[in-house]
Amino acid sequence: MRLGNKNKSKDTNFDPLAQLRDICSKAGIRLTHQRLEVFKEIKSAHDHPAAEDIYGRLKKRMPTISLDTVYRTLATFEKMGVIRKMHVLDDHARFDPNMERHHHFVCTKCKKIIDFKWPDFDELVLPPEITDVGTILEQQVEVRGVCKKCAKSK
Ligand SMILES: [Zn+2]
Ligand SMILES: [Zn+2]
Repeated sequence: MRLGNKNKSKDTNFDPLAQLRDICSKAGIRLTHQRLEVFKEIKSAHDHPAAEDIYGRLKKRMPTISLDTVYRTLATFEKMGVIRKMHVLDDHARFDPNMERHHHFVCTKCKKIIDFKWPDFDELVLPPEITDVGTILEQQVEVRGVCKKCAKSK
């Protein structure tokens, strides 16, 4: 089962309840309504939202949810390997639901983060000066620039 793919044919297979039930039973935690709502929101987000963004979106249909609950739920999902936490440009932590190997373009103006694939890079063998330092767990590229929209509005 692959999660968080932007590919349309896979999105139609997105069954958040079944996925979360599976994840919770493996992690030995309870599947609550709030967890399900946070899961649905983060897994369908394509903009690498911050916890505050998720909270703002959820609050519209779940007025009782608290920002603290959103923080804790996202932290739980991160620990379970369902989403990734990332830091860009010294901003608030952002969350990435796409667990497939990919890289990021970060706009330094609007802080938009865009996924891209780079199979050639993924195949690269890192130089010994890096591999000598320790074990490589992943190699990911963060390209920084100014997106077209921001470049135009200058
Ligand atoms: Zn931008
Ligand atoms: Zn991403």
